[in-house]
Amino acid sequence: TQAHVDAVAAARPLNAYILETPEKALDMAAASDARRAKGEAGALDGAPLGIKDLFCTEGVRTTACSNILGNFIPTYESTITSQLWRDGAVMLGKLNLDEFAMGSSNETSAFGPVVNPWRAEGSNAKLTPGGSSGGSATAVAADLCLGATATDTGGSIRQPAAFTGTVGIKPTYGRCSRWGVVAFASSLDQAGPIAKTVEDAAILLKSMSGHDAKDSTSLDIEVPDFPSFVGKSVKGLRIGIPKEYRVDGMPAEIEKLWEQGIAWLKDAGCEIVEVSLPHTKYALPAYYIVAPAEASSNLARYDGMRYGLRVDGANLTETYEKTRAAGFGTEVKRRIMIGTYVLSAGYYDAYYVKALKVRRRIADDFDQAFQKVDALLTPTAPSAAFALGENADDPVAMYLNDIFTVTVNLAGLPGMSIPAGLDHKGLPLGLQLIGKALDEGTLFSLGGALE
Ligand code: GLN
Repeated sequence: TQAHVDAVAAARPLNAYILETPEKALDMAAASDARRAKGEAGALDGAPLGIKDLFCTEGVRTTACSNILGNFIPTYESTITSQLWRDGAVMLGKLNLDEFAMGSSNETSAFGPVVNPWRAEGSNAKLTPGGSSGGSATAVAADLCLGATATDTGGSIRQPAAFTGTVGIKPTYGRCSRWGVVAFASSLDQAGPIAKTVEDAAILLKSMSGHDAKDSTSLDIEVPDFPSFVGKSVKGLRIGIPKEYRVDGMPAEIEKLWEQGIAWLKDAGCEIVEVSLPHTKYALPAYYIVAPAEASSNLARYDGMRYGLRVDGANLTETYEKTRAAGFGTEVKRRIMIGTYVLSAGYYDAYYVKALKVRRRIADDFDQAFQKVDALLTPTAPSAAFALGENADDPVAMYLNDIFTVTVNLAGLPGMSIPAGLDHKGLPLGLQLIGKALDEGTLFSLGGALE
């Protein structure tokens, strides 16, 4: 723990941690030593972790990287973090993210962008670690923790994992409790770990999973022993390659990475099958309607009365307006406006209901494909990490980054990103495995085979 506390302090220029909690870390480490001495070690005993600042931590400032939460100090702990502490993990601090997890580059954070520890060969340009879990991915990649919590509404675990050469898994919707995790789009939000290895990710996810009476969408089913799937043979598994993911303009290098992944799985004894997910091209537009719609509703609670920032106006309405004008950043305001628009009378059927229908079709496409195969293999993102600032002024270019990841959230399925080598500039690339609902186990076996 001390070595990690020192490493975190030495790596401040990366801006991965927005709050360091060294005293708490050392106290928790001492408590875990005491438990171990009594023979009561948990599965994560003494493991120093970073926590995305979207998870409420009792007595420790939680901001979602938004000015509107200001100095919000929760009086309660999220279910997921309490389960990690129950199993002996140690908290090093709170990690940077895009404001309210809206973004793909960590540049919408009120605390400034996170810097990817990777550099392209022969260049010193600062790169994005991806987003929204940019702090989590950077902290893991730069050895500033053993693992980190993250969340994924439309790729925010998997794309940052791909950009930093780490492993990230978004489990099936309902596998983990959302209680105490600041809400973005409740029907898509799901937490999961970013870790250095597939086995570490399995150990962390096991601890994070489970039913919680405080989240009615968390599933009341047994949590499998995820680590026992790592190293299992994948011989005979059928792997689908969705042809619609060969999008126009996909860089040759990403295409090559995919071919490489296919070859690796063939060598491991898998059977490769081409499948079709015909509604894939509607996934991004549907996501960018459903997610802002839910966000506009969830973010209505930040009114200057209940949490964090308050900017007083002449009357109540003006106080709301001034607080929200000052507290939210540009991207969050854009989402609230889009969301309010698509939910308003006259546009509700044209946009929101239409998007829900597309969402159903996308889920049906996956159901069809999973009649024939055990899992799917795709690239995680259409490029390697890009330069900070490169897409910052072009929201549509930024949204296009999520093309391979949002489908999984719309369908509620588990998806995992595995490091799969480097591009010609020496930057990490990731492959994505998509599983049947509740079949994270197969993803851990396949991830182990690709690692
Ligand atoms: N990049 C996507 C967005 O901006 C996904 C974010 C996420 O998964 N939290 O909405």
